[in-house]
Amino acid sequence: MKRKNPGFGTLAIHAGQSPDPSTGAIMTPIFQTSTYVQKAPNQTQGYDYSRSGNPTRSALEGNIAGLEGAEWGLGFSSGMAAITCVLHLLEAGDHVVAGNDLYGGTFRLLRTVFEKFGVETTFVDLTDLDAFQAALQKNTKLVMLETPTNPLLRCCDLRAIAKICRRKKLLTLADNTFATPYLQRPIDLGCDLVVHSTTKYLGGHSDVVGGMLVGNGEELRARLAHFQNSCGGTPGPMDSFLVLRGTKTLHVRMQRHCESALKIAKWLESHKKVARVYYPGLPSHETYRTAKKQMKHGGGMVSVELKATVAQAKRFCSRLEVFALAESLGGVESLVDHPASMTHASIPKKERKKAGLEDGLIRLSVGIEDLDDLVADLDQALKRL
Ligand SMILES: *Cc1c(COP(=O)(O)O)cnc(C)c1O
Repeated sequence: MKRKNPGFGTLAIHAGQSPDPSTGAIMTPIFQTSTYVQKAPNQTQGYDYSRSGNPTRSALEGNIAGLEGAEWGLGFSSGMAAITCVLHLLEAGDHVVAGNDLYGGTFRLLRTVFEKFGVETTFVDLTDLDAFQAALQKNTKLVMLETPTNPLLRCCDLRAIAKICRRKKLLTLADNTFATPYLQRPIDLGCDLVVHSTTKYLGGHSDVVGGMLVGNGEELRARLAHFQNSCGGTPGPMDSFLVLRGTKTLHVRMQRHCESALKIAKWLESHKKVARVYYPGLPSHETYRTAKKQMKHGGGMVSVELKATVAQAKRFCSRLEVFALAESLGGVESLVDHPASMTHASIPKKERKKAGLEDGLIRLSVGIEDLDDLVADLDQALKRL
């Protein structure tokens, strides 16, 4: 785009996008092709095989890189494929420091896949900078950040951690899935790489699974692109198109997610059947000050500890009518999740407890339906607790 310093909404719609040169089609076509005809052997028009590159994917990579204020993007078939790509930078004997309440799938990947290749991870409370620094070892190479975390929505100080890591020449990867670049831009705060599960807010319509990695510098890009192409977890053109369709409305959707989530969080906080509300935009939240520093708003996720047993909490989830009982988050529709039995079931109970994930905890992904309907739905289910 030619305009200097365009606003976020303009970037969402235009970054990485240009009309199709052969037809003028304003929207990037779905280049549903595996291969590309060459004019002469090894004389391509930039694409030779769709695992290595595809124009629909390129448009998406440019778009999300633009939104995150990064130089380049690399698309993946899922968020986990994107995180796996970063872990391939490591070798046996290397050490990772990661948050102790990060996404369950990331925990599982580190513990059950990369550990057996000799890459060890220390999980630590990243909101405690002393504990973080104490966890660093001589062989630490990568620091994996996630903020707000899932499901307690705790925020670690990206700028402070990135500063420490720069000094020690450690690579920082920030999982920005929950915040999205609309609320927080880790690259601006000093992180090296940002990863997304585009399945969530960037796609935004619960109709695609995808991942994205963005960063700066050609050397790092080339190393990661090598693993992207060698391991092959790339997104298809249709999936790339769907995510691209989602990012165009990211700013509008996020604004509504945040407004409704804040109102619901406040309403729940004053409800007598609620023990505790976790929302980054509430002053009662433990990391409110950090959130205020680095996030534009509190986000669309709200976690609630009900005054209820496990069985009651599960029944509460089933009784909701507008909130659908499902894993995942970030779509236009509202979802409810019971972490202990669903998204976080792969974390052993002992570890869950240690990280503060109580069995009665409920996680809400607040959608963009009418707020009154969402509150009424929660109200009827709470009354029957
Ligand atoms: C969903 C999610 C992932 C994994 O992404 P997939 O697209 O499901 O592979 C990683 N990190 C966070 C924070 C997520 O919410």
